[in-house]
Amino acid sequence: MKIHEYQGKQILREYDVAVPRGVACFSVDDAVSAAQDLGGEVWVVKAQIHAGGRGKGGGVKVAKSIDEVKSYADEILGMTLITHQTGPQGQVVKRLLVEEGADIKDELYIGLVVDRSSQKVVFMASSEGGTEIEKVAEETPEKIHKELIDPEAGLTNEQARSLAADIGIPVSAIEEAAELFKKLYQAFWDKDASLAEINPLIVTNDDRIIALDAKINFDDNALYRHPELLEMRDLDEEDPDEIEAAKFGLSYISLDGNIGCLVNGAGLAMATMDIIKLYGAEPANFLDVGGGATTEQVTEAFKIMLKSDKLKAILVNIFGGIMRCDVVAEGLVNAAREVNLKVPLVVRLEGTNVEKGREIIEQSGIEIITATNMADAAEKVSAVAGN
Ligand code: GDP
Ligand code: MN
Repeated sequence: MKIHEYQGKQILREYDVAVPRGVACFSVDDAVSAAQDLGGEVWVVKAQIHAGGRGKGGGVKVAKSIDEVKSYADEILGMTLITHQTGPQGQVVKRLLVEEGADIKDELYIGLVVDRSSQKVVFMASSEGGTEIEKVAEETPEKIHKELIDPEAGLTNEQARSLAADIGIPVSAIEEAAELFKKLYQAFWDKDASLAEINPLIVTNDDRIIALDAKINFDDNALYRHPELLEMRDLDEEDPDEIEAAKFGLSYISLDGNIGCLVNGAGLAMATMDIIKLYGAEPANFLDVGGGATTEQVTEAFKIMLKSDKLKAILVNIFGGIMRCDVVAEGLVNAAREVNLKVPLVVRLEGTNVEKGREIIEQSGIEIITATNMADAAEKVSAVAGN
C-alpha cells in the first residue's frame, strides 16, 4: 500500500525525523490559511499523489508571497499531473501539502528497501539527491552506497556514520545524520514498510539535515497489524478496477495487453501470462480467482475485464483440484450469459470432473472455444485476438 508524502512525513515526525512544518490541504482557501498559520516568507505548494517526479511535472512550486501560494494552489489542485510514474494518463490532484520553505545547500538521497537476495533490509545513500535515483543507478552506480542491515543488530552507529560520510555530509552534521538514518530505519522496521525513500534529504545552509520528501510503501500482508496505516489509505489513488475486484476476493492487476485472463491460483496465472506472451500476445490483466471461485466471482471477473475497450479475447485457464471442473463450467456458462460476452472466449479446463465440465460447456450453446492444454489455449486465444 502506498501513502501520500504528508502522511509519510507524519510517520517520520512520530519517529523524531526532522521534516519541514506543513499542512495537508483540500482547497485553495485551506492552502492560504495554512500558509498564513505557518508564517515566514517562503512556502512550498506540493501536489499529493501516489507518484514521484511531481517536481518536473509542475506539481511542486515555491511561493514567495501569500498571493503566490493562492495562485499555485489554484493551479495545482484539480490538475492532471503527468510524471514518469503516473503513466501517460496522469493523476488528478485532490490534495496539497503546503510547507514552510527550506533553505537548501545540498540535495542527497537515502532509501530503504527489502533486498530479496540477501534477505535483509538494505540502506542506500547517494550524494545525487533531487534527481531520479534510477538514472544514478544506471549511469553512475558507484555513487550509490549500500549497507545491508542485520535484523538482530539493526542499523549500527558505524554503518550510519559511514553512509553519512560517504555521501558528503559535513563533519559537524554526521552525528545528526546518523541519528536520522537510524530513526528512519526504525520507522521502516516497526511499520512493516517495503520501501522508504527520502529524495531529497537536504543539508541546509546552517548544516541541519531535513527530510524534504517522503515516499513510504507498506507490505500489504502486514497491514492487518497496522490499523493506523489502513486509515491512511486513499482509494482515489488506486485503480478502480482493482478495488472492485478486491471486494469480490479477486486478486486483479490491470496490464497493457488485450487478452483477458481468468485463472485459479497465482502460479497458474503467472504461467498463463508467460505462455500467452510466448504465442505472441499480451495479457490484459493478471487475475487469480482463488481456490474456490463462485459463479458470482467469475461473473464479476468477466465484468471487470469487459470494461476495457482494448479487450480482444478472454482465456479461462482453470485447474480443478479442490474445485470441481463441472462447478467451474456451470459458473462460466452462467456468467457468460449474464454479461453477454462480446469477445471470443477460450477455455482450458483440467482436473477433477473435467469430462462433465466439458459436456456442460458444449451443451450450453454458448460459443466457447475449448482447448486441450495450455499451449493449445494460448495459441488459440492469440489467433482469435488477431495476433
Ligand atoms: P518529487 O519531484 O515528486 O520527488 O517531489 P519533491 O518533494 O522531491 O520535490 C521536488 C524538488 O522540489 C526537490 O528536489 C527540491 O529541489 C524542490 N523543493 C522541494 N521543497 C523545496 C523547498 O522547500 N525549497 C526549495 N527551494 N525547493 C524545494
Ligand atoms: Mn522527491
